[in-house]
Amino acid sequence: MDYDVVVIGAGIHGAGVAQAAAAAGYRTLLLEQYDQPAVGTSSKSSKLIHGGLRYLESGQLGLVRECLVERQRLLANAPHLVRLTAFHIPVYQNTRRRPWQIRLGLSLYALLGGKSFQQVPPSAWPDLDGLRTDTLDAVFRYYDAQTDDAQLTQAVLASAASLGADITYQCSVERAVCEREHCTVFYQGKDGGAEIKTRVLVNAAGPWINRVLGCIEPVVRPLAIDLVQGTHLVIPGTLRQGMYYLEAPQDQRAVFVTPWKDNILLGTTESLFTGNPENVQPLEEEISYLLEVYNHYFKKTLDASEVIEAFAGLRVLPRGKDAAFHRSRDTVLHRDMDTCPRVLSIYGGKLTSYRATAEKVIQKLAPLLPARNKQADTRTLRLP
Ligand SMILES: Cc1cc2nc3c(=O)[nH]c(=O)nc-3n(C[C@H](O)[C@H](O)[C@H](O)COP(=O)(O)OP(=O)(O)OC[C@H]3O[C@@H](n4cnc5c(N)ncnc54)[C@H](O)[C@@H]3O)c2cc1C
Repeated sequence: MDYDVVVIGAGIHGAGVAQAAAAAGYRTLLLEQYDQPAVGTSSKSSKLIHGGLRYLESGQLGLVRECLVERQRLLANAPHLVRLTAFHIPVYQNTRRRPWQIRLGLSLYALLGGKSFQQVPPSAWPDLDGLRTDTLDAVFRYYDAQTDDAQLTQAVLASAASLGADITYQCSVERAVCEREHCTVFYQGKDGGAEIKTRVLVNAAGPWINRVLGCIEPVVRPLAIDLVQGTHLVIPGTLRQGMYYLEAPQDQRAVFVTPWKDNILLGTTESLFTGNPENVQPLEEEISYLLEVYNHYFKKTLDASEVIEAFAGLRVLPRGKDAAFHRSRDTVLHRDMDTCPRVLSIYGGKLTSYRATAEKVIQKLAPLLPARNKQADTRTLRLP
């Protein structure tokens, strides 16, 4: 047998699984189709390491609690990559949620593991980075964390490699055949086609997940999903007080305005996507939507010609009739125990909870793997 665990995809989930597998002592290989990590969704996120305050409204308390625990671990294990930052929620006369609702949500968030929050006094409103203050009723300040998603992914991969995992780029998995005792993985690399044998195969291909699943024999029935694109804009400006958590006036969705590498990051949107994941691009209507939100709340207005950069990433969400904003953000670990128990696919998920997800993946696959000596505990492992 060449490997115990083969992982497809060098996004945050593939990196996390490679790290968890190597930490558990398994012989691990990760295959990535591009020539570098985090080319997919893991460099296109909102870059927040957060509990997800808004998930409280949909009762996803388990998700919020898990993310807050993981946020705490990342602050301890990667202080150079993950920083606690102030978030501001302004409540205007016509904002849908009233101050008492925000106070209740933030109290619950603090109870689940968030930090305490404050109400910003009106005397401090003029310092809020040019936020409009006419018709403002209240401003709340609480704390969550921010990261550079691509750098975090690279650090997790470096940690996996330091524990002995092999990480290989420009290797596109084209087919896998699973038998009773192992799977054979066929891939195209720089030097042509090759195959390797592994005891288990983890499909961490993000928005390509069902394409990868379609190349596996015997057939594993895919879950029904929608790919929903989210666009961010990098715009000029400085935010001295931290981030702003805004309610889009058009449809009451949450939009974040965050400091980002000497500029401002503004996002995100939700538009159904049906093409090839590698072709996802920001849409003109998404750019207008985001600028409209920014111009509604900030005194200094911007037009499309001032946008420095726009990028789009793809969420993997359960297929449904509800608006994407209201669909579950829970991660689903999918296996067909009858036809192909050695293949596990990771659907959806959060950057924040990648470590917990990766440990669950390894725990599920452990009965199919040989006994190995554990090398490290990812709960306390410092990231390089
Ligand atoms: C707009 C947006 C904002 C978000 N904001 C946040 C946030 O602020 N905080 C948070 O916690 N989460 C956030 N998320 C969620 C989070 O970003 C994603 O859940 C996470 O990045 C997904 O990572 P992944 O590894 O599953 O997929 P990806 O990062 O897409 O990685 C999949 C990898 O698989 C590779 N691959 C595919 N097919 C093959 C093949 N055949 N062979 C080899 N390699 C292959 C791809 O090249 C790619 O590198 C956001 C998501 C979106 C879309």
